[in-house]
Amino acid sequence: APDAGFAPDARSAPNDLAPYWMPFSANRAFKADPRLFVAADGMYYTTADGRQVLDAMAGLWCVNAGHNQPRIVRAIQDQAARMDYVSSFQMSHPAAFVLAERIANLAPAGLDRVFFTNSGSEAVDTALKIARAYHKVRGDANRVKLIGRAKAYHGMGFGGLSVAGIPRHRRDFGPLLGDVDHLPHTHDLAHNAFSRGQPAWGAHLADELENIVQIHDASTIAAVIVEPVTGSGGVLPPPVGYLERLREICTRHGILLIFDEVITGFGRLGAPFASNALGVTPDMITCAKGMTNGAVPMGGVIASTAVYDAFMTGPEAAVELMHGYTYSGHPLACAAGLATIETYEQEGLFDRGPEICAAWEEAVHQLKGAPQVRDIRNIGLLAAIELESRDGAPGARAGETVNRCFDDGVLVRVAGDNLVLSPPLIITPDQMGQVVDTIRTALGEVA
Ligand code: PLP
Repeated sequence: APDAGFAPDARSAPNDLAPYWMPFSANRAFKADPRLFVAADGMYYTTADGRQVLDAMAGLWCVNAGHNQPRIVRAIQDQAARMDYVSSFQMSHPAAFVLAERIANLAPAGLDRVFFTNSGSEAVDTALKIARAYHKVRGDANRVKLIGRAKAYHGMGFGGLSVAGIPRHRRDFGPLLGDVDHLPHTHDLAHNAFSRGQPAWGAHLADELENIVQIHDASTIAAVIVEPVTGSGGVLPPPVGYLERLREICTRHGILLIFDEVITGFGRLGAPFASNALGVTPDMITCAKGMTNGAVPMGGVIASTAVYDAFMTGPEAAVELMHGYTYSGHPLACAAGLATIETYEQEGLFDRGPEICAAWEEAVHQLKGAPQVRDIRNIGLLAAIELESRDGAPGARAGETVNRCFDDGVLVRVAGDNLVLSPPLIITPDQMGQVVDTIRTALGEVA
C-alpha cells in the first residue's frame, strides 16, 4: 500500500474484521471480500491494494471540493493543535460565530440563523423539533403534524425516519412518530423519462398538500419537509413549478417549509444551496455533508429570522430552545467549515457551477440507448441512470454494474435500480467521459 503519511496503527492491515459492526452494509459479504481505502487526493481514492479509483460519488455526496484539499487539511491541523474542544452550552469560541455568519451570507436572504449539529440526521431532527416548538411558543400548540414525502431520505433518527419515504428503511423500527403524513413522490417515467434537468410534468403533485390540509386541517400541521431534489431515493429533480407551489400552499396555511439540503447544499446544484439555484426560499434549510467537505462531521439548520425571533421573547436569562449536542459547533468542524467555504469560493466552484453542470448533463445523457437503461435524470452535478429491474431481483443489476465499475476504477453508488452519481465539483470533462465510458462498458457486461 502507498505511504500516505498515516499513523502506523491506522495504516496497518486489521487482523480481525469481526468487531466492527458496519453501518448500512452487508457485513458478512463485506468481510468475506473487504474493500478498504487508505488514501485520497482530489478526484481519486487509493485502495489498500494500491489501485486508483475515480470518485464519482464525492465520498457519499459530501466531498464537493475534492479530497484532501490542502486549505481544509491545514485548518483542521491548526485547530486541533490550538484548542481541541469547548462546549457550546453557555459558552463558545469565535470560529462558530464566524462560520454561522458565512453560512448565513451564502443562504437566501432571510435565512440567517444557524444552529449547529453533527450530521444530517441530527439537522433534520433539530429542524422538526424547532418547527413544533416554534408553533408552541407562538401559542399554536395544536400544530404538531409533520408532512414528509414518498421516496424521501432524511437520515436515520426517529424524526427523520418518520417523515422519510423509503419503505425498507422504515420497516424494522416502528412505531415511528404518529403525527405524520406523506406527499406523493414525483417520479413518473410515462411523463418524464430522459428529461434534462427539471422535468416539465408534475407541478400539480404539490397540490396533494392541499388535500392533506383538507384531511387534517391546517391548524394541526407544523411543517412540510422535502429534499428539493430527492437524493438517496434515486435523484429526482423537482418538476418545474413544483417547489414554488409547495411554498405557496405552506405560506397560505401558516405551515413551515423545510428544505433538506444535506445533499443539495454547498454547491451540488452549482450554487450555494438548491434554494438559491431554484429560486424558492423555505423557512428552514437542513445541511451537512458538503458543509465541511466531508472532512469533519458537521450539520446544521439555517432558520429564518422570523423563526428565530419567535423564540426570543421570554426572559432573557432563560434558555430559549432546550436542544443541542455536546459537539454542536465543535472547533474542528468549524475550522473545517470555514476552510471549506473559502475553498469553494477561491476555487470558483459556485461560479463555475452552470458551466460544469451543462457539461455533466451532456455527458450522462450519452448513456441513453445503452443496455438496460430506462431513464437518465440529472440536475446540477447529480445524476441517476435508472436500469430495468431484473425479474425477482430488484436492484441486483445495478449492484453488479457498480461492482464492475469499481473493478474498472470508478466509484459509483447504487440506489434501488439506479446508478447514482454525485462527483466532486472539480471533475474535468475527461473524467466525466471516463465515468460514462466505464458505466457503458459495465452495462455491456452485466446481463
Ligand atoms: N438528509 C438527506 C437528504 C440525506 O441525503 C442524508 C444522508 O445522506 C441525511 C439527511 C442524513 O445525513 P447523515 O448521514 O449525516 O446523518
